[in-house]
Amino acid sequence: MNIDIGENIKTQAQTLLEKGEVRCFIGFEKGQFPFHSPPAFIDKAEQAGQLVWDDFCIANLSKYLINFSHLEGKIGLVVKGCDSRGIIRLIQDNQVSREKLVIIGVPCRGMKDASRAAAGMEEITTLPLAEKCTGCLYPNPIVYDVLIGEKVDASPKQRFKRVEEIEKLGLDEKYAYWSKEFARCIRCYACRNICPACNCRSCYLDQHRVNWNGKAVDVAENVNFNLTRAIHVAGRCIECGECERACPVGVPIMAVNRKIIRDINSLFGSYEAGVDLEDKPPLDWYRAEDPDGFR
Ligand code: SF4
Ligand code: SF4
Ligand code: SF4
Repeated sequence: MNIDIGENIKTQAQTLLEKGEVRCFIGFEKGQFPFHSPPAFIDKAEQAGQLVWDDFCIANLSKYLINFSHLEGKIGLVVKGCDSRGIIRLIQDNQVSREKLVIIGVPCRGMKDASRAAAGMEEITTLPLAEKCTGCLYPNPIVYDVLIGEKVDASPKQRFKRVEEIEKLGLDEKYAYWSKEFARCIRCYACRNICPACNCRSCYLDQHRVNWNGKAVDVAENVNFNLTRAIHVAGRCIECGECERACPVGVPIMAVNRKIIRDINSLFGSYEAGVDLEDKPPLDWYRAEDPDGFR
């Protein structure tokens, strides 16, 4: 059965806004280039026609919810698998409430790597899957009110490929590799801003205290920042890959995230963040009878 997903999204958004069931709707629209479909925020039914669904609806829309969650009324939005995991993450962190959302789910076949078209390296018709989609475990929305389209199979062939490659390096080689990668970081915090697991209203990075995280852009401070952020989302990272996609200098952030995910799985048992509202991250709780004690 062939369904025009874009038309269905428009109809859903139009109806929700017409009936006043949502105060605004978050989806995607065409941007400046054919390979660009940025987030769209509409609050009038007649704007629904500008919404689209194509191979470039790659952004995770869930993080935007925290800008609206304190306002009256419901918010409608389109979600792929990764967006829906972000929503579960935000609900578990008490940043949004499920009752305030009308979720239009769309099973995702993977989004294209627009950066190659933007760099003039490839025609839009032959673009490969975006890096964040090559290891996707959950392409189907997990939480939704309406599902548009048929569910798809996940094929996460390369999930830990980069982790395994880096693990093969010797200690000095690893140090050299990460020093070089983190040296490029310009501390723009795009990785933090886009991340649905990084949702503290008051982030430690924005505090100005002596001996707190320094503001200098150098290897030592950059390593401190990147590893601290990775630990802050440990067990809560939903693997949406948005941090790495947003990074303007190409720091391989997902290699750090996935290394931590793999270590947590081996230390505490298999856990997938953002797939079950009732299942809290392993680092969020402890058992009093834990043989390792609690310090
Ligand atoms: S990470 Fe998964 S759900 Fe998200 S855009 Fe890629 S394939 Fe789709
Ligand atoms: S750390 Fe990166 S992959 Fe993990 S939830 Fe945040 S943006 Fe997504
Ligand atoms: S997005 Fe990249 S450059 Fe910006 S702070 Fe994060 S790691 Fe550094």
